[in-house]
Amino acid sequence: MEFQNSYLDLGEGFYQTADPEPVRSPELFLWNHGLAQSLNIAAVNDAGESARAQFFSGNAKLPGARPIALAYAGHQFGHFNPQLGDGRAHLLGDVSDGTCPGQDIQLKGSGKTAFSRGGDGRCALGPAIREFVMSEAMAALGVPTTRCLAVVTTGETVYRETPLPGAVVTRVAASHLRVGSFEYFAARNQYDSVQKLCDYAIRKHYPGLNDLEGAERYLAFLAAAVEKQVRLVCEWMRVGFIHGVMNTDNTAISGETIDFGPCAMIGAYSPNTVFSSIDTQGRYRFGHQPNIAQWNLARLAETLIPLVDDDANRAIEKITPIVMAYTDQFQKAYWNMIAQKYGLRECTEDDIALLTEGLDVLKAKGMDYTNTFDLLTRSFESVAIASEMKSEIGPWYMKWQDRLAQETDEGAQIAERMRKHNPVVIPRNHHMEQVIAECIESGSPEAALRFLAVLRDPYQVLPETKAYQDIPGDGDRYYQTFCGT
Ligand code: AMP
Ligand code: MG
Ligand code: MG
Repeated sequence: MEFQNSYLDLGEGFYQTADPEPVRSPELFLWNHGLAQSLNIAAVNDAGESARAQFFSGNAKLPGARPIALAYAGHQFGHFNPQLGDGRAHLLGDVSDGTCPGQDIQLKGSGKTAFSRGGDGRCALGPAIREFVMSEAMAALGVPTTRCLAVVTTGETVYRETPLPGAVVTRVAASHLRVGSFEYFAARNQYDSVQKLCDYAIRKHYPGLNDLEGAERYLAFLAAAVEKQVRLVCEWMRVGFIHGVMNTDNTAISGETIDFGPCAMIGAYSPNTVFSSIDTQGRYRFGHQPNIAQWNLARLAETLIPLVDDDANRAIEKITPIVMAYTDQFQKAYWNMIAQKYGLRECTEDDIALLTEGLDVLKAKGMDYTNTFDLLTRSFESVAIASEMKSEIGPWYMKWQDRLAQETDEGAQIAERMRKHNPVVIPRNHHMEQVIAECIESGSPEAALRFLAVLRDPYQVLPETKAYQDIPGDGDRYYQTFCGT
C-alpha cells in the first residue's frame, strides 16, 4: 500500500501545512494490531515499538506523510462558527492501493496549528484511551466508525482543570470531510471549492457516482450522504450509543462515527437520556439524534444550492425532497431494526404500534436496554429467563409472544436472528471510567486490554464477559461526560 496525502490535490485554502510539535518521551500505550495489518503500510509493518511511538507521536515522519490541518466550519449546538478547523490534529495522509484514495491517518493531540485559537493543541491520556476503546467497541458491534491505530503517551503534562498525563491518539477514518468542511466554503461564497470538496468526496466515498454530471451528480451525492446518516444513526439507536456532540463539524460525510469526546451508552432505556455536561438543553439526547442528523444534512444541502441550479429557488425545489426523504427512510430503517431486536423478520404498520408499546414498557420500568434485549434473546433457551422476563415486562410480554407465534420459524431461529442485533456486552459508562482511571493510575494499559478483549466479541458470552454486564449501582443517575479534554 502507498501512503501519501490526497488532500493536497485540493489545493491551498483547504488546509494549512503544519508539522506536529515533538513531544518529550513518546511511548506506545495502545496499539491496534489488526488495524495496522489491514492498513499494511510497509514502514509501519517494519517498525519496532519505539519506532512506532516516534511515528505516532509526530516526533518522526512516516514515509510519504505530508501533515496538514484541515479547514472547516460548523454549527455548534445550532450556532454557526465560520472558522474551526483542526486545532490539535495533523492529517498525515491516506493509504492508497494506487486507484482511489483510501483510509486517512490523523494524529490528534499532536500540537498547535493555525486553527488552534486559544487551545494548547494537546490531548490528555484519558480521552485518548476512551476514543480507542469506544471506537473499537463500535467497530466490533458493526457500527460505522472511525478507528484508532495507536495511543502514545507523551511524557508531558496537559493542563485542564487539573494536570493530566498527555497523549497522542492516531485516528484512522474513511475521510475527515465533515458537513462543516462544506459550510466553511459556502460561508465564504467559494462555491468552486464546495464543488471540489464534493468531487473529492465522490471519488473517495461514492465512486459509483463518478460518471454523473452537473446537478444530477450533486443531488446524487446528497442522497448518498442521507443514506449513510440513516444507517449510522439507526445503528447508534440499536446499540444505545449517545454521540453527545452532534455538531456539523463532528458529522463525517463518510457516515462514520467521529469524535468520541462526550459520548456515552444508555443503560436504563429512555429517549431523553443526556450525559454531556454542556448539553444543558438536551439537544443531543439519545432519542433526538435521528432529528439532529437530518438537521445536519439540511446544513450540508444548503451548501450545494449553487451547484444544483443557477436559480436558487429551483435548486431548493430539487434539494428539499432529498433531505425530507430522510424522515421516511429513517423511520423504515429504525422500525425494522427494532423489530429485529424483538425477533420479528420484518415490520408491518401494525407492528409499529406493538413495538412502540414495547419500548414504552422499557421506559416506564426503567429497564436496561442492552440487558433486556440480551435476556429476551436468551429466553428461548431458558424457561427460567422466559418467566423472569414475563414477570418483569408484564402484560406486553404475551402480546409479543402472540406476535412471534405468527413467525414461521422456531424459537431457536428467532433467537439466532435476535442475537445479530442484540449485543451481550457494550462499553458501559461506569466500566469505561473505571478502566480509564485504572490505566492512568497504574501507567499500564492492562485494564483497557482486558476490556477490549471482551468488547471485540460483543455478541458472544466469553468467560470474562460477565464482569462487564452489570448495571451501575446508581443507574448512571449522576454520570456526566465532558468534551474538549
Ligand atoms: P471538538 O469539540 O473536539 O469537536 O472540537 C471543536 C474544535 O475545537 C475543533 O476545531 C478542535 O480542533 C478544537 N479543539 C479542541 N480541543 C483543542 C485543543 N486542546 N487545542 C486546540 N484546539 C482544540
Ligand atoms: Mg470535533
Ligand atoms: Mg472532540
